Amino acid sequence: MEKTILVVEDDPRNLKLFTDLLKVFKYNTIVARNGKEAIEIAQNNFNEIDLILMDLQMPVLDGLTAAKILKKDENTKHIKIIALTAFAMKDDEKRVKDSGCDGYITKPINITSFRKYISLYLEGDGFDE
Ligand code: MN
Repeated sequence: MEKTILVVEDDPRNLKLFTDLLKVFKYNTIVARNGKEAIEIAQNNFNEIDLILMDLQMPVLDGLTAAKILKKDENTKHIKIIALTAFAMKDDEKRVKDSGCDGYITKPINITSFRKYISLYLEGDGFDE
């Protein structure tokens, strides 16, 4: 069965890039443009969404706050969330983990590792520790 990925991203170019790539990789995509939209969509479709790609800096509601809310919700906490970060500092990695996210991808993405990482997260268990 095709996997469905919710892509949460406020930047239209990044959103197009991610959804175009995911379609090429044969995934279904749903889009949200801020954390509030992401929560609404995830809560209404928690049985259909296999993975969430979550930008951090967004208007209305940021990605880490949205992730925390989704990970506290009984219906949505099982959905893996990968943060899309524009940085890779140790503190930020900790912030991402503390929010309940299962992993992160640093932007700008490398297409090959983006593909590998997503397929890994659809099967795997999250952060390597
Ligand atoms: Mn953003």
